[in-house]
Amino acid sequence: MEGRISDIGPRKYDTFFPPVIAKNFGKWLYHEILEPGVLMHVAESGDKVYTVRCGGARTMTTVHIREICEIADKYCGGHVRFTTRNNIEFMVTDTDTLEALKADLKSRKFAAGSLKFPIGGTGAGVTNIVHTQGWLHCHTPATDASGPVKALMDAVFSDFQDHRLPAPVRISLACCLNMCGAVHVSDIGIVGIHRKPPMIDQEWVDQLCEIPLAVAACPVAAVRPAKIELDGKKLNTVAIKDERCMYCGNCYTMCQALPISDGEGDGVIIMVGGKISNRISRPKFSKVVVSYIENEPPRWPTLCATVKRILDVYAENANKYERIGDWAERIGWEKFFELCDLEFTPQLIDDFREQAYFTWRQSTQFKFTPGAADAYKGAEAHAEASGGAVTEEEKALVYNWMVEKTSKPGAKTKFYFNQFLELFPGASPRKVKAVLTALVADGKFAYWSSGSTTLYGLKGAGKQAATEEGEGK
Ligand code: SF4
Ligand code: SF4
Repeated sequence: MEGRISDIGPRKYDTFFPPVIAKNFGKWLYHEILEPGVLMHVAESGDKVYTVRCGGARTMTTVHIREICEIADKYCGGHVRFTTRNNIEFMVTDTDTLEALKADLKSRKFAAGSLKFPIGGTGAGVTNIVHTQGWLHCHTPATDASGPVKALMDAVFSDFQDHRLPAPVRISLACCLNMCGAVHVSDIGIVGIHRKPPMIDQEWVDQLCEIPLAVAACPVAAVRPAKIELDGKKLNTVAIKDERCMYCGNCYTMCQALPISDGEGDGVIIMVGGKISNRISRPKFSKVVVSYIENEPPRWPTLCATVKRILDVYAENANKYERIGDWAERIGWEKFFELCDLEFTPQLIDDFREQAYFTWRQSTQFKFTPGAADAYKGAEAHAEASGGAVTEEEKALVYNWMVEKTSKPGAKTKFYFNQFLELFPGASPRKVKAVLTALVADGKFAYWSSGSTTLYGLKGAGKQAATEEGEGK
């Protein structure tokens, strides 16, 4: 082992501990939030640590960072830390220093009068908004990141400083669908979206791109190699099937000659209801509730007003400790849209893979209020196009076949779709799919998706798909 280098990454964390943290490491009894932005942690030894949390910008100047260091030197023995949401945390061990620190932080202001170190971001309020790179330096953003976040934090700042909300609210922003900002599990997520296919800069494709890479990057096979003649020269290029494109921007990541950013096409969506905590209910993904808001720099007024409205309605209506997603699920997403005065549009319907075939209620979509009537009509039209009306005889044929196949001891309990095709010689797969879908809707069959394929069985029969992969082949 002699000469082996093991200290390769960032310096080991415990060498930076303040003495009180090092002494009580792993021996903390409990913590309390004394007031918005101030926490007290109590250790088994009786030691206490008071933490003052301040909002921090994600992009800071060295001048600002030096001031943070100066405060940390003055009150905290030279220690400071940042939370995962870019809050700055100063830790002290006695109440006199705590009060002096708070007074000092409150007194520090920028030239225009705004607080340099706003105290807050704890408990049942809004904590710092995490965000991605945006127009600062990423290559695929559909919106800015720091800009809308600054405007939004100004709009909801009182909720950073107090605890009026029923539970914590995590707001995040990712400026494209790559989502490097964990927006999918935030109470309120803002995501930049493109709405137009990439442009093809024919002159440069051949010179800047590995065409096979650009082709392979497209998840929906909308990009294919092509050849053109330009100014008398034969060039290799790509062609894009616009109707397939879902505007993800992957091809642009591979090929700079396929720019996707567009002043008219780009904007943001709002997602709601995600969380990582398992209190009250399991962790969940956020759902899209506003399908498009155009970019409105520099203050993004529509975005700010919409998020503020959701927060206000949530504060007024939810039960204590209920996160936004728990509240929306308890009252029903129909009611959520109604209370928050949000329009339900077809783009909100989650039709990824099979979900929407079986029940529209697996996502935010609904069918009982006037706003959803059109979407529901669309669903009926889709069902018609997917195989037409299903008769009781057709359902009975499949059901009885399944009962017979599964009734023998040790028999398989689930079957692949193509095995049902044999029951309807000459019928289209859509027709057979419609019969199976009807049996699922009737509650007689259940389906299991292994991620790559779907199996069907009698409802309640057999084990879960994950343990049954391969059965029925
Ligand atoms: Fe870049 Fe997309 Fe991440 Fe924004 S979310 S920083 S555009 S990769
Ligand atoms: Fe394919 Fe996405 Fe490029 Fe559209 S934007 S062509 S879906 S890779």
